This record gives sequence, C-alpha cells and structure tokens, in this order.
Amino acid sequence: MPVSASLRAFVEALPKVELHVHLVGSASVDTVLALAKRHPEAGVPADRQALAEFYEFRDFNHFLKVYWAVQSMLRDRHDIETLVVGLAADLAAQNARYAEVTVTPYNHRLDGMPGDELLTGLATGRARAAAEHGVELAWCFDIPGEKGVEAGRETLVFALRERPDGLVSFGLGGPEVGVGRAQFEPFFTAAREAGLHSVPHAGETTGPATVWSALHDLGAERIGHGTSSAADPALLAYLAEHRVPLEVCPTSNVRTQQVESLAAHPLRRLLDHGVAVTLNTDDPPMFGATLNGEYLAAAEILGLRGVELANLARTAVDVSFLPGQRKAELTGEIENLVAEYGFLA
Ligand SMILES: [Zn+2]
Repeated sequence: MPVSASLRAFVEALPKVELHVHLVGSASVDTVLALAKRHPEAGVPADRQALAEFYEFRDFNHFLKVYWAVQSMLRDRHDIETLVVGLAADLAAQNARYAEVTVTPYNHRLDGMPGDELLTGLATGRARAAAEHGVELAWCFDIPGEKGVEAGRETLVFALRERPDGLVSFGLGGPEVGVGRAQFEPFFTAAREAGLHSVPHAGETTGPATVWSALHDLGAERIGHGTSSAADPALLAYLAEHRVPLEVCPTSNVRTQQVESLAAHPLRRLLDHGVAVTLNTDDPPMFGATLNGEYLAAAEILGLRGVELANLARTAVDVSFLPGQRKAELTGEIENLVAEYGFLA
C-alpha cells in the first residue's frame, strides 16, 4: 500500500541511528568520484555518468567488483577521511544522528595502508562528521572471517593496542558459508574482557545454527543480520527473552538473494516474536539503499504502521552503544515527533 505523505514526512523527520553499515560499502558516487580523480591509475571511471552506470546494482558479483574497486583506491589518510565525511553527509541527508560504522583494518593493511594512516583518517573524518554534518560516529573493528584466525588475531591486537576514540565494538564479517564462528572465540573473549561489545554477523547467508554459535561462542550482544533466526522458534524465543537485537538490512537481503523480495522478508515475523529489531543499510549506495527507504519499505511493503516505525527508531537508539544521556536525548526527540504527528502507542 502506498504510504501517505504525512507518514513519509514523519519518516524523514524521524531522528535515526544506523547500526550496520560498512565503511567501504558506504562510498557514494560522489565519494568514489573524488577518489577516482585522486587515483586515476585504479581505472575506476572518473566521469559522473560512467561512474553512475558502473555503480548501478546488477548482481552480487558486480557488487563485489564495485566494492573491491573502491577498496583499491584507499591508499592513505586522505582517502579514509574522504570516505568517512562522505558517509556522514549521506547519513545527515537521512536525518541519521549517530552511526556505528564497521571498519576492517586487516583488509586495509593487506592493501598496504599503514595502521597510522587508517587511524588518522578515521579520527579526522570523525571530527569533521560531527562538525560539518552533526553526525556522531562510532567504530566497530571487524574480522574478515574468510581470512581465518590470523586475521582474527591481528584485528584483535590492532583494536586493543590502538583503542581509537569512538571504538565501541568488535565484529566478524565476510562470507559465513564454510567460515565457522567458533574459531574466533578467543579473540571475541579477549575483546569483551577489554570492554568492547560483541557484534558478529551471523544468520545472513546461513541458518540459525550460526546465530546460536555467535551467541554461545562469541558472546554476541547484537547480531549482524540474523534474519535466518526466523526459521527457529526456540532461537526467536531466546533472542526475545535475552533481548539480543538483530541488525536487519532488508534491501541488502534482497540484493544478495537471501530473501526473494521485500514482501517475503521476515521482519514482521521477527517483530511478532518480540525480537528487538533495528533497520539498517549495510552497503547503502552499492545496494541502492537508504535508511529512509528501509523505513518506508517496512511501511509500504510489510504494512508497518507509524507507531511501529517509531518503535524501530526507538529500539535502534536503545540498543546502540551510545551513552545513556545521548540515548535519552534522542528518545526524547522521537517522542516529541510522535506526539506532533499523533502516532500514539
Ligand atoms: Zn554487513
């Protein structure tokens, strides 16, 4: 059902937080244009029209091609800063106030970027995000799982040694098939003991067993995706009872063909079982996703009402790793907006 103009305005005005977005995957056409001009030898189109065509989602393999093309242009602190500030501008356009952004230090190191360059680019980008766009950023350093335990060890050592401002969590990404979660248990234990939150991907491309493993082996406090939990009633009950939230990314799930269509997405089923669900974009420009678009699709295609959209925004604030004071402020803003629009609980 098409959403009303007032619901659309409400979604746009809703203060939002984004809890699942990958830094490299967040690069918009404008950002890539700046990088391509700086690094012409990378062979990425530096002409807007050609780049926009290159960027259009075709299939998952093409997405990977775009992703690695962007990754190949990240050489130093300036490139990282460009990426971070570009993401902040895009978040501000969605009225997103805060984001927890996944960074994969191991991949940058493999590409020859010294750790200091990465950290300086993140720090200057983060300061500019706040000053120029009013967007607060935090970091999740994640292990590229397909690169094995060595990547796990190195990511942990880097995270704990450097502990940059804004680092709040420790993650695990990359393909799930053939990449068991349990092998990374020692790194997650050490990260948690050092005060980082555990937020591994699980149950995106594999079944509920991976989510159970993330919970039991990695002490997951939030699950990246976790959509396949919908197939396991005992797991749904566990997630609801222990309030382990899922970072759901509906458009991403369609693009990677984990669900057939948005209409077939288990978002509603997860909510009906009392699971704490947040809406996120994963790799937004590469998947043609926006945060407002995810909320609108939840209304238009899955039939969520205004009050339910407000609840999704409240949940995201609540399960973020923001300090309590900031959570209270953002929740207050959401309440004021709900009152203004009359979407009463
Ligand atoms: Zn992800």
